[in-house]
Amino acid sequence: MITKIQRVAPDSLREAKNFIEAGEVVAIPTETVYGLGGDAFNDEAVKKIFAVKGRPNDNPLIAHVHADYDLSKIIDYDPPYAKKLREAFLPGPLTLVYPSTGKVSPFVSCGLNTLAVRIPAHEGAQAFLREVDIPIVAPSANLSKHVSPTSAQHVYEDFQGKIPLILDGGVCVGGIESTVCDVTGEVPVILRPGLVTKEMIASVVGACEEYTPDFRSGEKVKSPGVLYKHYAPRCETTLFGANALADAVRVAKQATAEKRVAVLCESDLLGAFDGLNVAVLDLGKTGEEMANRLYGMLRTAETICDLLVAVEPREKGGVMTGVLNRLKKACVSVDIPHENV
Ligand code: AMP
Ligand code: MG
Repeated sequence: MITKIQRVAPDSLREAKNFIEAGEVVAIPTETVYGLGGDAFNDEAVKKIFAVKGRPNDNPLIAHVHADYDLSKIIDYDPPYAKKLREAFLPGPLTLVYPSTGKVSPFVSCGLNTLAVRIPAHEGAQAFLREVDIPIVAPSANLSKHVSPTSAQHVYEDFQGKIPLILDGGVCVGGIESTVCDVTGEVPVILRPGLVTKEMIASVVGACEEYTPDFRSGEKVKSPGVLYKHYAPRCETTLFGANALADAVRVAKQATAEKRVAVLCESDLLGAFDGLNVAVLDLGKTGEEMANRLYGMLRTAETICDLLVAVEPREKGGVMTGVLNRLKKACVSVDIPHENV
């Protein structure tokens, strides 16, 4: 199969719609990362997405709709606070998990009675969703466990010859996947942190909790995706806490004797590696900058080094929660054993 990359335009949108109607999957841009899109009502299209990504079949998908789509077609109950969240943050990088009407393919939510819905802000994504006018399931357009894609070229690297079309909408500005927030209970519960933060949600609806799965309790995990090793570059990785900068420098220095080494950390910590024979990947200063650069830099790392030495950002909370969550899933942490389930 030939994989075409086409800029978002009336012709390419029509072509994308034809592929979707034929049960194919096409890659689409969003403001967070690129997605691998298919018809949420079509069992075969949904199964194809799992197959082409190599995604575990208990990790549910997010349905993407345009801003004027009638949500009552796919969600069963819409609590008043969810409406407030939509008014405040959507279209944007926030996914809400509602009770489902069960109208989309049962493979979308992997047997859960809920449905995750997102209204992306990216103009190209909106144009595509309006063109098809159905919910499109679109997990990140990377092979399962590889780093998420923030450009059409990244998608091509993983899916060349496997999908017919990549709609190119430029480099993603957000850079990390949407915040996933459960709205089936009394208060919103964040299942995956992202650019819409706990603090932002609480400021609109008064309260917001954060879900941290207890792996040892045997409880049924609310959002299976949080279990998986994710986003990993194909090189050795070591992540140091911000207070272990000296250890990071020592490890990087020792490794340069036998390996190509790169270091990844916030701008203000880079000076600690001066004089070492290492490639430097500058994450930037703010949470937004770090989110925007992270995946591109992880993809660069796997092409330029054998060992990536990463250091956690010093600041915590806000957008940094999402950045740190992705860094921990991408890199082997020196103090926490890496779950690889
Ligand atoms: P991805 O599509 O790769 O960005 O991953 C989607 C994320 O949304 C994963 O972490 C899933 O576990 C989560 N998700 C999707 N649907 C649901 C749902 N119905 N309930 C809880 N989490 C969900
Ligand atoms: Mg993903």
